[in-house]
Amino acid sequence: MAAHQEKKPSEERKHKSTQNDTQTSQVQWGRAWEVDWFSLASILFLLMFAPLIVYYFIMSCDQYQCSLIDPLIDLLTGNKQLSDIWNKTPTLTYRAASIYTLWVVFQMLLYLFIPDFCHKFLPGYVGGVQEGAVTPAGVVNKYEINGLQAWIITHVLWFANAYYFHWFSPTIIFDNWIPLLWCANVLGYAVSTFAMIKSYFFPTSAEDCKFTGNFFYDYMMGIEFNPRIGKWFDFKLFFNGRPGIVAWTLINLSYAAKQQELYGQVTNSMILVNVLQGIYVLDFFWNEAWYLKTIDICHDHFGWYLGWGDCVWLPYLYTLQGLYLVYHPVQLCTANAIGILMLGLIGYYIFRMTNHQKDLFRRTNGNCKIWGKKPEYIECSYMSVDGTKYYSKLMTSGFWGWARHFNYTGDLMGSLAYCLTCGFEHILPYFYIVYMTILLTHRCIRDEHRCFSKYGKDWKRYTAAVPYRLIPGIF
Ligand code: NDP
Repeated sequence: MAAHQEKKPSEERKHKSTQNDTQTSQVQWGRAWEVDWFSLASILFLLMFAPLIVYYFIMSCDQYQCSLIDPLIDLLTGNKQLSDIWNKTPTLTYRAASIYTLWVVFQMLLYLFIPDFCHKFLPGYVGGVQEGAVTPAGVVNKYEINGLQAWIITHVLWFANAYYFHWFSPTIIFDNWIPLLWCANVLGYAVSTFAMIKSYFFPTSAEDCKFTGNFFYDYMMGIEFNPRIGKWFDFKLFFNGRPGIVAWTLINLSYAAKQQELYGQVTNSMILVNVLQGIYVLDFFWNEAWYLKTIDICHDHFGWYLGWGDCVWLPYLYTLQGLYLVYHPVQLCTANAIGILMLGLIGYYIFRMTNHQKDLFRRTNGNCKIWGKKPEYIECSYMSVDGTKYYSKLMTSGFWGWARHFNYTGDLMGSLAYCLTCGFEHILPYFYIVYMTILLTHRCIRDEHRCFSKYGKDWKRYTAAVPYRLIPGIF
């Protein structure tokens, strides 16, 4: 652990925190306690419109060949009524409900009952029981890291079915895509509502609950920090990684299978999407232990944002390129395909190396080499709610010396590569890069706000040393 702690006599702690505003705010680091009007407006907007946005995108592919404009034109010219579109939309089916239930239960079983064995034979892979970061209340949770194993077992079964058993068609996901959307929504709302009720009546760690008093904010951003059932079923780790991210690569494979069925071949653009997004997903599971130290697990509370987002937003909108390519099979010329592959791989390299540098730096408490040299850093301190003082370090060399979130820059380059595979005929596949740019810029600002509350003047010293957020010299 990078942070080492120093207990102080309670009188001295009290004295210090009343003397100094920065220190007072440092005691309250973590998610906001008060809701400003902009956050509230954004939250209401998302609660009302995010499910409609997902529906609109998927419906446009189903009924309008992925054109986002044509449904609007039809509605505005009176050519169609909303009810015409709605009546053409596939409903929830017994088959989809069975597939979805089986899927979620299967992922739960893999998560809960098969302890990780990958770390026993894969060199460099960190799995098994791992510790998370210190929460604002000073709690350190343990997690069973077995996502890579769940991903491998699921995919081995998928390929075994596709090439040997033939229990179901590999196009099953595409063929039931809209009925499955209703199932994903049911789970997303159910888990978010359950998490809200749980936080009032039987929270896992009451000290880490945050009630703002605003129902919508609390529902959206969550109250409980790390809700769990029993010792090991952690809502954030499970819903963030599985079933959504394990499904990501399967969804893409199903799209590729559909292309094969419809056109007798799989285009190079579809292969690129499968490969580039496959690398991203595998990277996630290979580094699941590292993921315990990212914002989702370390700082976000579990509410609709994570619960519904993981069940619906992620599997449906992160896979739009593959869906688009089923309707518009783009065959890229070799030069374009290589250019996109390079952009995706360089983006991935920056994303991974930046994350790796921070992880190595934090794990070794700065006793490591970054680009062949000892890392440079700023010493900083913060306090948990019980007044315990912790020390930490912010690195100012390597990619972290170029910009404060260069990992996001790499992620954005990769995201752009996925979109470019689809050519320029429609805007639908470009939703992902627009969304990621908004998400990561907002995340960057949110994180910096939180880091400032946590580290106070030390954070200011850091931003003076590394003045840019995403692009050196520009932003
Ligand atoms: P980071 O991994 O960048 O973590 C930010 C935290 O790192 C800060 O809160 C701070 O935590 C610590 N930190 C900040 N600066 C430094 C520094 N100079 N030296 C050491 N520690 C520092 O952010 P995320 O968790 O948001 O992202 C992780 C990855 O996940 C990124 O690559 C991102 O692109 C990706 N991502 C992808 C998403 C997707 O939907 N595809 C969504 C979100 C993220 P502390 O309090 O410990 O100091």
